[in-house]
Amino acid sequence: MERIVLATGNAGKIREFEQAFSHMNISCVPVKEICQVPEPEETGTTFMENALLKARYYSEQTGLPCLADDSGLVVDALNGAPGVYSARYAGEHGDDVANNNKLIAQLQGKHNRSAHYVCALALVYPDGTSVTAEAACDGEIQDTPIGTNGFGYDPYFYVPQFGKTMAELDIDTKETISHRGKALQELVKQVGR
Ligand code: IMP
Repeated sequence: MERIVLATGNAGKIREFEQAFSHMNISCVPVKEICQVPEPEETGTTFMENALLKARYYSEQTGLPCLADDSGLVVDALNGAPGVYSARYAGEHGDDVANNNKLIAQLQGKHNRSAHYVCALALVYPDGTSVTAEAACDGEIQDTPIGTNGFGYDPYFYVPQFGKTMAELDIDTKETISHRGKALQELVKQVGR
């Protein structure tokens, strides 16, 4: 069975990746189970640059194919912010409350609420070749949070198709329509070719 190293410690993502590759006789192993190395700095200016640099780094460290993702929120009225800085928009990495407060403050008085979640995936092999996929999920930022599912910006991310915020959707629905779910479906298709 082929093994792919996952450049993430996020349990939800690990489950999603494992499930997507299970029918192809490919097993997914979180990188922390293989080696303990410092995380690379995410210096890219695009989601794909960051996904590729993480995948390349861990593939070199482990000698195995490595799958990495990078994702975030792109808001049109904010010229694409928070973008690659989504996790650290308000300063501290992963402070969802502070990030959301800053987002809503920046959007005060702005009528255009169009936003997009974007996910870039990169699978890099030890010989340096790579397979990549990128997908987006369109929505609108609302001022009031609704829903308790998901994470990050989800309670403020309204999905017109469902008339609900991302945080009101169940996990299966989110995986079908989300940026990460769609990018993963595209990547798996390419690997299977
Ligand atoms: P990462 O790629 O998992 O590091 O995600 C970067 C950041 O983008 C997260 O910390 C969130 O702020 C935001 N983000 C990415 N995907 C989602 C999502 O599906 N829902 C809510 N926030 C997300």
